[in-house]
Amino acid sequence: MSRPTIAKINLHALDDNLTHLSEMANGSKIIAVVKANAYGNGAVPVAKHIEQKVDVLAVAFLAEAIELRKAGITKPILILQGPHSPDELLYNEFVNNKPKASIVKDFIWILHTKWQLDLYSQYCTTEKAMLDSAKIWLKFDTGMHRLGLEIDEFDAIMQQYASFINSDTVIMTHLANADEPEQTHALAQIERFLVAVEASKQPLCISNSATHIRFRHARQDYVRLGIALYGSSPFQADDSPIELAPVMSLESQIIALRTIPVGDCVGYGSTWKAARQTTIATVALGYADGYPRHAPSGTMAWCNGELVPLVGRVSMDMLTFDVSDLSNVKIGDTVQLWGDKMPINDVANAVGTIGYELMTRVSSRVPRSYRD
Ligand SMILES: *Cc1c(COP(=O)(O)O)cnc(C)c1O
Repeated sequence: MSRPTIAKINLHALDDNLTHLSEMANGSKIIAVVKANAYGNGAVPVAKHIEQKVDVLAVAFLAEAIELRKAGITKPILILQGPHSPDELLYNEFVNNKPKASIVKDFIWILHTKWQLDLYSQYCTTEKAMLDSAKIWLKFDTGMHRLGLEIDEFDAIMQQYASFINSDTVIMTHLANADEPEQTHALAQIERFLVAVEASKQPLCISNSATHIRFRHARQDYVRLGIALYGSSPFQADDSPIELAPVMSLESQIIALRTIPVGDCVGYGSTWKAARQTTIATVALGYADGYPRHAPSGTMAWCNGELVPLVGRVSMDMLTFDVSDLSNVKIGDTVQLWGDKMPINDVANAVGTIGYELMTRVSSRVPRSYRD
C-alpha cells in the first residue's frame, strides 16, 4: 500500500505545448528551460523526453546541469546564472584526486557580470584545455536590473573581450514586465536592446514564455521557454492568447469523511466554522507536499466532476474540503488540487501567488508518474 498522493506528468501535453510554441517561433531555435527540477515536473524525465525536440536545455546553475549530464542527457545545456565561483568554470569530477575526463561537455555559460568575463578571459589563456568545448553567451541588462552587463557598454564590452567572442556568442537580455497587461516597459526594453545590438551580427535571444507569446519582434534567433511548455499561462490576467495543456496534475484521495453540525469548526486554530451541517472530506496531501499553507478557506479543488472549497487550515500532511454538495462522495475518491481539471492559475490567484511557485514547490515526497 502506498499513499495515493501523486503528481501525474502528461508528456503528451508537453509535446503539444512545444509544437504549438514552436509553430509560433517561426524558425527561432528553442531553449527548453528545465531549471528547478523542470518546474517541479522532474528535470531528468522531462529533459530525456524533450531533448531531441529542442535545440538547447537551460538550467539555473551548474549542479542542475551536472545532474542532467550524469543522467545521460547529451544536448547542449545553458547555465543561466553563469559560474558562481572560479572553480565552477573548470569543474571536473575528481576521482582519487585525479581529474576524471570532464563531464562538462558542451555547457554553455551565460556571463552576465564583469568578473565572470575577466575570469573567462584569464582562463582562456591559462586553462584553455580545461575549458574544453564550453561556450559562452553574454547577458545584458536593459532595464530589469537583476543580472546583466550594462547595455550602454555593449560596443566597449564586445571590443574588450573580442578574444573569446565569436559568431556563436549569443547576446541575451531578459524582460521584467512581459507578462503585465501594460506593455510600455517591455517594449522599451526590447527597443533598447535592439538598438544597442543593431550594428552587431551576433545571434540574439530576448524571449521567455510571456515575451515569446506576446511580442513577435522579440523572438529573434533563440527563445527561452519555461512555464508555457509546462502548460501554465505566464499571464496574470485571464487573457492568454494561446491555449496550453497542463502537464502536471497534482492529485490525492479522500482518506476520511465526516458530517459536522452547524457551528463546529475544522482544523488547527478552528479558523473555519460550519454555517450549515457540513460533510468534510480529509485528503492525504498537505504543505509538506508543496500545497501552500497560506491557502485560504474557499480555495477550490476538483472532486468527482465538481469544484469543492478548502475549509480550515492546511496541515502538514492533510487538507479538508467541504464536499456537502457532492452526491455519492466516498473514501478513496480522487481530489485534484491543480492540473487538467483544476487550472493552476485559479489556485494561484486564490492563494496570492503564481502558477510557477505552486508547480516548483511540489516536494520530493510526492511521486511523479509519467504518461506519454
Ligand atoms: C526561468 C527563465 C526563463 C523561463 O521563463 P518562463 O517565464 O518560465 O518562460 C527564461 N529566461 C531566464 C533568464 C530565466 O531565468
